[in-house]
Formats: sequence, structure tokens, C-alpha cells
Amino acid sequence: MDEAKKLTKAEGTRLALRLFANYGKPYLRWFLLAMLCLLVASSFALAFPFFIGRLLDSAFKNRNAHELNQTLGFLVGVLGLQAVFSFGRAYLLNAIGERIVTDLRKDLYRHLIGQSVTFFANRRVGELTSRIASDATIIQGACTLSLAEALRHLMVSSGGIIVMFLTNTRLTLLMLGIVPFLVLSAAFFGRRIRGISTRIQDRLADATSVLDETFSGIRTVQSFAREEHEIGRYSQFVEAAQREALKRALARGLFNAFIVFVMFSGVVVLLWYSGHQVLEGRLSAGQLMAFMLYTMAVGTAVASFTELYGEFNQTLGASQRIVELFATRSEIADPPQAKSLVSIQGRVEFRNVVFSYAERPEIKVLDGVNILAQPGEVIALVGPSGAGKSTLISLIPRFYDIQAGTILVDGCDVREVKLTDLREHVGIVPQETLLFGGTIKDNIRYGRLAATQAEIEQAAQAANAHEFVTKFPHGYETVIGERGVKLSGGQRQRIAIARALLKNPKILILDEATSSLDSESEKLVQEALDTLMEGRTTFVIAHRLSTVRRANRILVLQDGTIVESGTHDELMELEGLYRKLYDLQFRDEAVLTELGTEG
Ligand code: ATP
Repeated sequence: MDEAKKLTKAEGTRLALRLFANYGKPYLRWFLLAMLCLLVASSFALAFPFFIGRLLDSAFKNRNAHELNQTLGFLVGVLGLQAVFSFGRAYLLNAIGERIVTDLRKDLYRHLIGQSVTFFANRRVGELTSRIASDATIIQGACTLSLAEALRHLMVSSGGIIVMFLTNTRLTLLMLGIVPFLVLSAAFFGRRIRGISTRIQDRLADATSVLDETFSGIRTVQSFAREEHEIGRYSQFVEAAQREALKRALARGLFNAFIVFVMFSGVVVLLWYSGHQVLEGRLSAGQLMAFMLYTMAVGTAVASFTELYGEFNQTLGASQRIVELFATRSEIADPPQAKSLVSIQGRVEFRNVVFSYAERPEIKVLDGVNILAQPGEVIALVGPSGAGKSTLISLIPRFYDIQAGTILVDGCDVREVKLTDLREHVGIVPQETLLFGGTIKDNIRYGRLAATQAEIEQAAQAANAHEFVTKFPHGYETVIGERGVKLSGGQRQRIAIARALLKNPKILILDEATSSLDSESEKLVQEALDTLMEGRTTFVIAHRLSTVRRANRILVLQDGTIVESGTHDELMELEGLYRKLYDLQFRDEAVLTELGTEG
């Protein structure tokens, strides 16, 4: 069973920090350079109030024009250098962030795409895509903006306080009196805002899942005329998110008002006190101005820490979710000493196979199944709905592991061979063919990425697809899927067959489409399938009379066990379940075929 690991908070934080460290390591040198730029730019920022003070004193106190001009020159220099180093810091940190997030996205995708079928069955696709899209973006933001801001504020506030102490200890102590108010209110509001933000994210995730479901199932929604019902469901979630968002707006508003009030009150008290000092001749107007600017800078920096703290938590949350995904190990993976399976004959054997799905371990979907398929044999599977046919075929490419027994391919246990080798030898033509957005050529070439144009056309010809493909104005370059031409059911199947032909596997799995095609299309598909099956061990979930007639052996499955086995004629004589199924499923087809030949 897949282990979707749930981590404790401390464990999650530790792993999230390690994630940062791992991904940041290759860029350590750049990072140090960015820190140097930050240090220099912040020092210049700290020099700015000092020169403003001097500018004022040159004019009001010293009344010295030369000094005034000189100070202006310094100020322009300071501002210019600050701009250059700020650019360096911003560019470097952004570049690091972009690289980290790209590395992270690639690794995460590589990790996820290797997970088992069960893993994907247990999760919503929307959730996984959002992990790669939004959580990675949050981390990127943290690596760039938030981290840079936090460090800048830290430098400005600590540097500012030191400079202030050096200039005027008393005033500094007075000024620091407002810091506890800022910190306490920041902690109080910060916690509240964070809690609300999480709830907003949850509600928005619910709303997004409604979008996901209804857009992908739009036909169902519209055929049941449930648009209003869905609008209601969606509205309910976005309105819930809005109610929380309004609470957050209120908290933020109150917080801002409080901060502004405290800061300005502080400034007013400082002004009043320093006014007295100016009167007593202990402080110049310029020094006062410089002091005020430092106070503003320090105050703003301290207040910004709250927001940054909130972002830090959000980042930890995002990293933790990513770490959890990385911690999920697929148990359908290569064993330590996996055997290679380079070329095979195509012998498939099931020995006493017992299987149940992880979600319902108490129900044995397959119970003691034995099959021996010699290379090139065609095995048809029939049985009532839910008998276990699809499950049985999905075990051959090892989409799931069995609980007891063995499945052997050319005498090798499928659990002991390299997964990619095994799957290289198994071709699947499903009931519903999934074609990717892209050209027809791309879709056929999916069977063998290195195939040449000639090989692709050859496969299409053998699959009876060449003719219809060349009728499109763009031929093999025709774009299909969401943004292109839509293909009919029969055409899609033939593309899938061409794809499988190109792959050229020794073992073939066919899940015949239940929906019937018109007789012309049916004939073309059938011919293509006949070509495809030649020389391959084939397992087919049969829905057509012609298939069961052609099969070397028919296995009749009921409640996870094989209850009858033999050729069509043998089983008909047996008058058992197959006979019953035949009467239900195939007889009409037989009658129609006979009528067709008579007519
Ligand atoms: P049909 O002809 O209707 O496609 P089938 O013979 O192919 O049926 P399976 O799809 O193999 O039957 O299903 C066999 C049993 O396993 C059913 O009872 C089904 O509910 C159950 N089952 C199938 N897939 C899963 C799954 N992913 N998780 C849990 N149970 C499953």
C-alpha cells in the first residue's frame, strides 16, 4: 500500500528547512554575494538620514553654502550606490528563487509521475497540480522577496538602533518605548490573520474542486441541467471564503490603524521631548530630523516583521506539503537487485494469484487465479460486470502488487524485474483511448519516441489509420485534442492500435470497447486489431463475438475466480455460465452476423 505520510509539525518544519537547505546549496555563492549587496545597500540606506540631518544643519545651523553643496554631493553619491547594490541584491535573489523553484518543480514532477496507480486513485488531480503550481510559487516568493525583505528590515532596524544610540541615548530609549506595543500587537493580530488565511485557503480549495469536477464533467452537468445546482455549490464555497476574507480585512484594518496610531503618537511624543532638547541647545534641527527619519525607518521595519512572519508560516506550510509528497514512497518500485528483462518470448503465467484493493482489503477481487498463456496465444476474458477482468489484466504490467501467489513473465516474477523493462514488453489498448494534445504524429510516436516518419506511417497503415489521417489537410501534423480536431471513436482506437504497433510489445492487453461502432468502422478496427495481435500473447476483455471465436482459450471469470475455461465450442457445449453470457451478450450479434451473410 502507498504510504501517504502525515508528518508531525516539528518533523515537518525540520524537513521543510532541510528542503530549503538542499535546494539552496548549489546557489550558496550567489546567495553570499546577494547578502554582501544587501549589507552594503542597507548601510547606505542608514547613512541617508545622517546626510539629510547634515543638509539641514548646513542651511539652518552653520549657514554654510559650501558644506550644503558638499552634503548634496554625498547624498547623490549615497543614493546612487544604494541603487546599484539594491539592484544587485534584488536580481541575485530573484535569480536564485527562479532556479530553486525550477529544480523543485522538476524533481517533484519526477517523483509524482513515478507513483503507483493507487496513489493517483487516492488523490484529486487538482490537489497535486496545485502542489506543483502554487506551493512551489510560494516557496519561490519566500526565497526571493520575503527573505530579502526580512534581512533588509533586520539590518535596517538593528543598524538604525545602534546609530541612534550613538547619536542620542535618551531619545533612543524613549523611542524604543513604543517597540513593545508594536511587537505585541503584531503578535496578536498576526496569529489571528494567519488562522483566518488558512480557512480562506481551505474554502478556496473546495471551490476549486467544484470547478475541476464540473468543467471536466460538463456533459453530465448540462445533460442533467444542473447548472444552477453547481452555481449554488460554487457560490456557497466562495461566499464562505469571502466571509473569512472580510474578517481578515477587518483584522488587517484594525492592525494598520493601531500601528499608525502608535507610531505617530510615538513620533509626536519624541518631537515634543526633542523640541525641549532643541530649546535647551542640546540638539540641532538637523540631528532632530535625522533622528526622526531613523525612528520611521526602524518603526516600519519592525512593523513589517509581522507580515513577513505570516508569509514565513505560509511558506512553511507549503514546504511541508511538498515534503510530505516527497516522503511518499511508491511500493510499486524496482526491488534493490532488479533483474533486466531485455527480450522475451511472451509467456505469461498466473499462479494462485490472490488480490484485493488497498481500500478494501477484506474483499478478494481475485482469489486463486491460475492461467498459463503460451507465447502468441490469445486469451479472451469474459464474465459478468465486477467479476475482476480489468483487475486481472492490470496486474500484468504490475500496476498493483498481489497479496499471494506469483505472476511470471517468461518465468520471471514481475516483482523481481525492472519495472520499465516489464512495461516495455506490455502494450495496452484501452477501451477509451487517451490521446494527448498535440499532433497525430506525436500521438502515434508515443509508442516509440525514436520512430522515424516512415515507421510511423507504416504503423498507421497497418492500423488502418493512414487513409483517414492523410485526408486531413495537415495529415500527420494535424493537431488533435482540446485545441484541435476531434476524432471519432473508431479513429481514436486505430490511432491507439498504431501506437501499440510501433511499440511492438510481446504481450498485448486489449480492453474491447463496449460501445459498438458502425459496421464499416468496426471492420477497420477489427482488421487493425488482427494485425496487432499477430505473434503476441494477447489478453483481451472480450465484448465481441468475433473475438471469443478467434481466441485460443476463453476464461470465464466470476467473483474473482475462473469458473470455466476452453474454446468457444467447448464452452457452449458445457451449458454453463459462458452459455448464459453468450445468450445475453453475443447471441444478438451472432443473429445479426448471420442475417448479414444471408442478405
Ligand atoms: P466490468 O466488466 O464491469 O468492467 P470487471 O470484471 O472488469 O467489471 P473489475 O473492474 O476488475 O471488474 O472490478 C472487480 C471488483 O473490484 C469490483 O467489485 C470493483 O468494485 C472492485 N474495484 C475495481 N477497482 C477498484 C479500486 N481501484 N479500488 C477498490 N475496488 C476496486
